[in-house]
Amino acid sequence: MNYKYHMPTKVFSGKNCIVANSDVFKTFGSKAMLVTGRSSAKKNGSQHDVITALEQQGIDYVVFDKVMANPTIECAYEGAEFAKANQVYFIVAIGGGSPMDAAKAMALLAKQDIQPEDLFNGQYAEDVLPIIAVPTTAGTGSEVTQYSILTNNLLETKTSIAADILFPKVAFVDAKYMSGLPVTTTINTAVDALSHSVEGMLSIRSSLVSDALAKESIRYFVKAAPAMCDAVGSGDVSLLDETVRQDLMQCAMLAGMVIAQTGTTAVHAMGYSLTYFKDIDHGRANGLLLAEYMAVVQESEPQLVAEILAALGMSELSEFKALLSKLLGEVEVLTKDDVVKFSAKAVAAPAIKGNCKVKPTEDEVNAMFMQAFNLAF
Ligand code: NAP
Ligand code: FE
Repeated sequence: MNYKYHMPTKVFSGKNCIVANSDVFKTFGSKAMLVTGRSSAKKNGSQHDVITALEQQGIDYVVFDKVMANPTIECAYEGAEFAKANQVYFIVAIGGGSPMDAAKAMALLAKQDIQPEDLFNGQYAEDVLPIIAVPTTAGTGSEVTQYSILTNNLLETKTSIAADILFPKVAFVDAKYMSGLPVTTTINTAVDALSHSVEGMLSIRSSLVSDALAKESIRYFVKAAPAMCDAVGSGDVSLLDETVRQDLMQCAMLAGMVIAQTGTTAVHAMGYSLTYFKDIDHGRANGLLLAEYMAVVQESEPQLVAEILAALGMSELSEFKALLSKLLGEVEVLTKDDVVKFSAKAVAAPAIKGNCKVKPTEDEVNAMFMQAFNLAF
């Protein structure tokens, strides 16, 4: 049984865990940079709790609150310049995957002089600002991964910086910040987490440990699914109570620990074009393709899909398709030209070329897009 398992992030989970563990911040230095999206961190209490903890410890701070969804390379450089100008010792990333990922790139670029054309080459020195992560969506698991995913306009896709130095030193996982997260964002992000766990099991790098984490993560998704199904029609966030929020937070964190070991596969590789060209939310993009990829895998590796379905408490792939369809609703419009373009990009992506137990051909990728978007062959 050969495998490697590496998870260096210290996790504090539970209600009010930031303020209760404010002494943790002190170990990283006397001045912090908070990295957030434009507004949610100010409204959901997460920024307030971080500032309370910093003030308790007498730590100075500055705020960079300009991270957009699907952050750009330019945003990462801007934040890094801000960090350097303010001479901060560490970064506290607060928000969904976008601020957390942008913050990781900023932490790298604040300490190393890297040109944009070399940003994704994997050749980095060890120097990086320490990162503390506070997730406020339950999806990406970025609080426990070594990935920073940025919008890459040169390649017209999303590209990942993957480096062990980007693992956050600490993650504070408190579901209370999600109480007002809209139903649609909750579902899209939860489906992203589910996709991480399922893809982890379909990756050539899956192991005993990553599969155990994936199955436990899927169990939490299943527990929260009925409430998400109830909420989907009404958009009523009160149907997603504290327990559901906590379950989804654990689901996402465990799924992050999975992809930290395995990376993602065909689903993410295909989904990036849906986000880049069609502005479809990251998690939703994956969810629209997930069952299609499982159908392709089922043809040659039926036991793999049976194992995933068992974790979901299902026996047929059609049950899983029905659940995703209920959660995600009507699909967007895609043309056949879109499909051809997106498929060519996907098969060139490392997640397909080098990471799938069942590597789909370009024709199969085409067919998956066609099927997912109800296009006639
Ligand atoms: P996001 O882009 O971080 O946030 C989506 C929206 O939700 C934003 O409008 C944000 O507002 C809002 N929001 C966040 N927390 C909220 C809260 N508690 N209450 C109310 N609104 C809230 O979405 P995401 O799905 O979490 O992250 C997606 C990004 O992560 C993509 O770029 C994807 O590629 C990446 N990703 C990374 C990894 C990884 O391992 N690093 C894995 C998968 C995906 P504000 O902008 O105002 O904050
Ligand atoms: Fe993802």
